[in-house]
Amino acid sequence: MARCWRTLRRRGEPTDVLIQDGVIHSMGTGLAAPEGTPVFEATGLLMHPGLINAHTHGHTGLAKGMGDKWTLELLLAAAPWIGGNRTTEDKKLTTLICAAEMVAKGCTAAYDLYYEFPLPTRDGLDAAASAYAEAGMRAVIAPMVADRTMYEAIPGLMDALPDALQAQVARLKMMPFQQTLSAIGEVLRHWRWSGQDILPAVAPTIPLHCADEFMCGCATLAREHGVGLHSHVGESKVQAVVGRRKYGKTLVAHLDGLGLLGPEFTAAHAVWLDDDDFRRMADHGASMAHNPGSNMRLGNGMFRLRQALDAGCNVGIGTDGASCADNQNMYEAMRYASMLSKVQTPDPRFWATSDEVYKAATVGSAKALGFKDLGAIAPGYKADIVFLDLGSINWIPHNWSTNQIVHTEDGGGVKHVMTGGRFIFKDGRHTTLDLAKLAVEAEAARARLEALNAEWAELYTKLEPVVASFCPAIAAQLSPQALPLRFACLNFDLSS
Ligand SMILES: [Zn+2]
Repeated sequence: MARCWRTLRRRGEPTDVLIQDGVIHSMGTGLAAPEGTPVFEATGLLMHPGLINAHTHGHTGLAKGMGDKWTLELLLAAAPWIGGNRTTEDKKLTTLICAAEMVAKGCTAAYDLYYEFPLPTRDGLDAAASAYAEAGMRAVIAPMVADRTMYEAIPGLMDALPDALQAQVARLKMMPFQQTLSAIGEVLRHWRWSGQDILPAVAPTIPLHCADEFMCGCATLAREHGVGLHSHVGESKVQAVVGRRKYGKTLVAHLDGLGLLGPEFTAAHAVWLDDDDFRRMADHGASMAHNPGSNMRLGNGMFRLRQALDAGCNVGIGTDGASCADNQNMYEAMRYASMLSKVQTPDPRFWATSDEVYKAATVGSAKALGFKDLGAIAPGYKADIVFLDLGSINWIPHNWSTNQIVHTEDGGGVKHVMTGGRFIFKDGRHTTLDLAKLAVEAEAARARLEALNAEWAELYTKLEPVVASFCPAIAAQLSPQALPLRFACLNFDLSS
C-alpha cells in the first residue's frame, strides 16, 4: 500500500493505493489493507502512471548519438553502418540500453519497431523481448520490415548514384516479401512473452518501402494473430511528395483504400497529414504516435496536435529511436509535444494543453499499444507507477502537478518506478539491471561493431552527399499549389 500524492489538477491530493496481484485494487484516504500487506510510505512523493512510449526502436540503443545533421533519408542511408553485424547478444544489449533509460526516466511500457536485416528472426525478437522482461517493462515489439530499399522507393535516387555506388547499394536489397511474411508468421506463432505483457505486432516500416500486397499481407497476419499494425506514415516531406505522386492520393487515403486502417493501426509521426487524413484516422479509431523530438531532430516538421485531437484521433507520444532522438526521455517528448503545438501559431486556441499532452503520453499511448489497463492510477489498472521526489528542484515549488510533469520534470525527479506493484527502480537505481555491467558490455559491443561496420561507414560517407542533395530537392517540390492541402510546415505569412 502506498501513501502518497495522487495527480489531480492542479495539485495532486494525498491518497492511499491498495495494490493486489499487481493491479490497483482501491484508492482513498485511510484505506484498510488486509493483514500483513506491506506498506510503502510515499509521503513527499508525487505519483503518476508510468509513461508509455508509443514509438521507439530498441535496435537503436547502440547507435545513440552517431549522427548530427541527419534527415530521415540520411538516417536510413546510415542504417547498415549504425546497425549492421549485430549478434543475438547485441540485439538484447541494444534494447536493454533503451529500456534502462526509459525506466530511469519514468516510462514503463513501449511500442518497439525492431529491425533486423535481412529478415526478422525468432531469436532476434526473443532477445529484444528478454531485454524488456529484464528491465521490468511492458512492451509491444513489432518486426519492422520492407521489401524495397529507400533507393528503390524514391524515384530517381538510385539513378542519381554513381555506378560503383549502385553496385554497393544493391547488396542491401530486401528479401521478397513472401519470405518476410513467412518469417513474421514464424515469430508470431512462437511468441512466448505475452504472459508478461510483452506482445508482438507487425510493422511494415514505410508504405513507400512496401508493395501494397506486402502491406496487406502484414495486415492479414496482424488480424489473424490479433496484434497491432504500425507504420511510419507521412514522416518526412519526401514521403508526402513521393506518396502523392505514386498513389495519386495522400498516404493515409491510400492505406484506407487498402483497408489497413482500424483500431489496431498506429501511424507513427503523421507529420504530413491533412485534415481529411485526420478524419479518416479518427473514423477508423486508429492511433497516431507523435514523436516531436525526432521530428525536429530530422527536420521533418511539426505534427498538428491540436487539429488531430479536434478531429477525434487517438494520439500517443513517443521518443522514436536513440539514433534520431538521442534519448528515450518521455518527459522531454511531452515537453516538446507541448512546445511544438504552441510554436505553430501565436493563437492559443490552437494549442494543446499540458493536460492533453499528459493524457496522450499515458492513456493515448496505452491505447496505441493495445492495453486497456495501463496509463492511469485507478482501480482495475495495472500498478505501473512513477514516484517523483517533491524535494527535487523540479518541484520546488509544486504548483500544478500535470503542468509540471509536462513542462518542468526532466527525469531528474524520478525516485522510484514500479510495474505491477514491483519496484524496478528504487531510490534512483535500477533494481533489475546492473548499469555498470551494461556500460562495459555496451562499450565492448560499440568498439567491435565500429570495426566490423567500417566498410558501411565508408559507404555512408559516399552516399551522404548524394542523398543530402537529392532528397531535399524532392521535398522542395511540395507547394500549396501542387498539393492543395493544409500542411503543418508552411511558414507564417507575415505579409498578410
Ligand atoms: Zn520510427
